[in-house]
Amino acid sequence: MTTAPSSIYEIHDPRFRHLIVVSAELEELYSGCRWAEGPVWFADLNCLLFSDIPNQRMLRYSPGHGVSVFREPSNFANGNTRDRQGRLVTCEHGGRRVTRTEIDGSITVLADQFGGRRLNAPNDVVVKSDGSVWFSDPTYGILSDYEGYKAEPELAHRNVFRLDPQSGALSAVVDDFRQPNGLAFSPDEKRLYVADSAQSHDETAPSHIRVFDVVDGSRLTNGRVFCNLDNGIPDGFRVDTLGNVWTSAGDGVHCFAPDGTLLGKILVPQTVANLTFGGPRRNRLFITATRSLYAVYTTASGAQYP
Ligand code: MG
Repeated sequence: MTTAPSSIYEIHDPRFRHLIVVSAELEELYSGCRWAEGPVWFADLNCLLFSDIPNQRMLRYSPGHGVSVFREPSNFANGNTRDRQGRLVTCEHGGRRVTRTEIDGSITVLADQFGGRRLNAPNDVVVKSDGSVWFSDPTYGILSDYEGYKAEPELAHRNVFRLDPQSGALSAVVDDFRQPNGLAFSPDEKRLYVADSAQSHDETAPSHIRVFDVVDGSRLTNGRVFCNLDNGIPDGFRVDTLGNVWTSAGDGVHCFAPDGTLLGKILVPQTVANLTFGGPRRNRLFITATRSLYAVYTTASGAQYP
């Protein structure tokens, strides 16, 4: 491992030098959250939306204009993304549901139960190019009244779900996670990465990202461990155009090559929960880290729509 001129970078593999701008510093854009999460970039509006879960609000960062409130109360909103029509899709701990915000501002519930039982607390979400909505359903949002409403799980498993875009049917695509969390497709959508963050509450539990092969665009097979984190847990993450995985971690952002090699880290002063690429060139990495929103320019650019 070598250290780049800037102290925020740890280079574990030479390939990482081609993904970062070594002179680019970490900028703190806002502070005042209790647990910042769920960043999603709206290129058409030149703004970032993100969640502040315990404070029951969603915030909007507009370059040059700072941060304002987008939605309050937010029903303890967590992960956000956009669908293929550009509509906001949100995981809500409070409502134990996944919602879509329509262009007229009304809210449509996409999923709140499975087999007649309430979901646990949808955490993070991604929309595939065919319009299917994939989300994780761990129990974090019902463990206490801090990030939702304390409740006993009704489901036997903490699943990753797929919502069919035509029928609206919900199916569990994998059911053996301890606490599934962030998820993202590879650029060709042939693989789905899913984080297991169970070590947050059990030090003997895994702190890793698993990868699955996507079959027929709708099923998962061949699950295996993609990478283990050496600091903290993987929560949310994103994939760049080269297929590298940029994940949240205890000491910052860790970047893994498609073969699972740790390429490097961007060190962040607070525990990172999630991140996304944004800006007009999708080369500005927005990082939600505990109380703050940070950003840093990269040479990499985000692959995932939006
Ligand atoms: Mg999460």
